[in-house]
Amino acid sequence: MARYTGAKCRLCRREGQKLFLKGDRCYTDKCAYERRPYVPGQHGRRRSKVTDYAVQLREKQKVRRMYGVLEKQFRAYYQQADLKKGVTGHNLLALLEMRLDNVIYRLGFANSRDQARQLVRHGIFMMNGHRVNVPSMQVKEGDVITVREESKKVPVIQEAQEVIARRGCPDWLEVDGSALKGEIKSRPVREDIQFPINEQLIVELYSK
Ligand code: SF4
Repeated sequence: MARYTGAKCRLCRREGQKLFLKGDRCYTDKCAYERRPYVPGQHGRRRSKVTDYAVQLREKQKVRRMYGVLEKQFRAYYQQADLKKGVTGHNLLALLEMRLDNVIYRLGFANSRDQARQLVRHGIFMMNGHRVNVPSMQVKEGDVITVREESKKVPVIQEAQEVIARRGCPDWLEVDGSALKGEIKSRPVREDIQFPINEQLIVELYSK
């Protein structure tokens, strides 16, 4: 499956915000955005006129990059969100949050969404007792995610208990660090997503 393979820190610098794409490194003074908080490239520090369109585009790119979704797939999420009942922007964020790779990351089984994606592709997780290997798979209320017995020795998984204790998980999820088991308690609501996102700008961009 196609994915972005370029430098991740450039994406944070481009969006003018830390997107936490590199796990633990993002919390250290090695963070590239902390060191160079301006747009990469020769004209990075130049000020240019910011149009409404540019603001909307940047917000969409920020969210898309944060969840590691390509443009076509992101637009498909938007269309799906628009067809659902309720607020389109909230539906869009819920769809992104309920991707399996994001859930693995939120549960603390991986340090970043990228790493979660990789672990899922390697088939180390089970959902409701069945092996899963599709990172974009949507989870639903009541789903139970566990680590396959054979994969519990994987170093990242062995560190998971410490990560879970340190990071905790959002209210819509429940995690048992010792059993390496997570459960989807409910659908995420807007308040569950603490990261600063203005989803209305994305809706405005796509509704043109
Ligand atoms: Fe972004 Fe993390 Fe790189 Fe910092 S270290 S620029 S937060 S990906």
